[in-house]
Amino acid sequence: MISRPKGTNDLLPTESQKFVKLTNFTHKFMKKYNVEFIRTPIFESYELFHRNGELSDMVTKETYDFLDRANRKLTLRPEGTAGIVRSYVENKIFSPGHFSSYYYIGPFFRYERPQKNRYREFYQIGAELIGNKHFTQDAELISMAYNFLKGIGIEDFKLKINYLGNHEELSKFKIDLSNYLKPLKESLSKESQLRIEKNPLRILDSKSETDRKLLINAPKTLDYISQKQAKEFQQTLKILDKKHISYEIDHTLVRGIDYYSEIVFEFQTSELNSSSHNAVGGGGRYNDLVNELGGPKVSGVGFAFGVERLLNLKNSLNSLPENIDIFLTYIDDVDSLDSYIIFSNLRMKNFKVYFGYKSNTLKTEIKNALGLGSKYLLIFDSKTSGKGIVQVRNLQQHSQVELKYEELDAYLRENLEVKK
Ligand code: AMP
Repeated sequence: MISRPKGTNDLLPTESQKFVKLTNFTHKFMKKYNVEFIRTPIFESYELFHRNGELSDMVTKETYDFLDRANRKLTLRPEGTAGIVRSYVENKIFSPGHFSSYYYIGPFFRYERPQKNRYREFYQIGAELIGNKHFTQDAELISMAYNFLKGIGIEDFKLKINYLGNHEELSKFKIDLSNYLKPLKESLSKESQLRIEKNPLRILDSKSETDRKLLINAPKTLDYISQKQAKEFQQTLKILDKKHISYEIDHTLVRGIDYYSEIVFEFQTSELNSSSHNAVGGGGRYNDLVNELGGPKVSGVGFAFGVERLLNLKNSLNSLPENIDIFLTYIDDVDSLDSYIIFSNLRMKNFKVYFGYKSNTLKTEIKNALGLGSKYLLIFDSKTSGKGIVQVRNLQQHSQVELKYEELDAYLRENLEVKK
């Protein structure tokens, strides 16, 4: 037997139904926000992710890099933003004053140690707003992500926000942070010790309890930002307050990828039951990436949610019915033809129908129909079908009527909200 590669998943029915609900919800939700769907390649040039200055673990340790048969160096995408910005620049989908907003759904790849909620192939749903910068966009994007979670039924989460500043302020901050940590080096966790020189920012979000205690008096990025930035940040928070979006400022929040500047945020939930991967999603602003990849000097802000984690949350998508309305079954084989033809006709007329292919006992079929959320059960029985009559059972009201085949369409349309 050949098994699936370590860290990958098969999406099987029941879970796949939830996935379909989630993607359907996403398309509808994004339309409301006027965000457009974009799809970019799953593999990109190696250089897109391995840019100068990208020191994150994700890029240095976790990418799947390979040579194709013509020796091109390629990388399976570990995240969505770089590919979208590459596409934005390459296709020149910008013009002065034009603002672009995109969303995506797709697989991403990171060579991480697989465990529950952490896989080597996982899906993300994300959005990016790219164009001239304004603090209302930060607020718009964060509230969009917040409403997305609420929209799929998740209530139990925390929104954490931090403000990193720009390249210069961050460089200064990193030096001070490094200097603060050096005398404490021996007491820090092994992982953090290795990061003091090269990537001290990541020590801030260390999960080690000892590290966290040692960080209590560490410098804070907010003390390094300009007055203008501080004001913009306050404006963004003010909008969130006005929209009753609750958040916490977390001075230790830095994101796994180095291109972030200014605002960063993360949605965390205790339900995932693991301190190191309790994030369902996050994002932030990137001021230099578009220009770095050859585009104009515009900024972007984006978020991404981990689909597997969203699907694993117990309340996600429970209240979004994608059920069927009508279940068809037959008692005797002679009626299978009639019932199948009527099923096909109803489907063509946009009813949400399901055909029970082989007649089980009526009791089992009622159970199956209820399991699929059906409101009506149509029973084809040779006692009446010869006269072109079908039994229509209302499963919610436990009542039953007999209808002629030609009366079915109007009756069901009247009782169910179905658009022609
Ligand atoms: P990141 O870009 O690392 O912040 O990822 C955004 C979201 O994607 C995270 O909050 C997770 O929900 C999800 N995610 C990231 N890495 C993985 C992984 N290896 N396995 C499953 N989900 C992941």
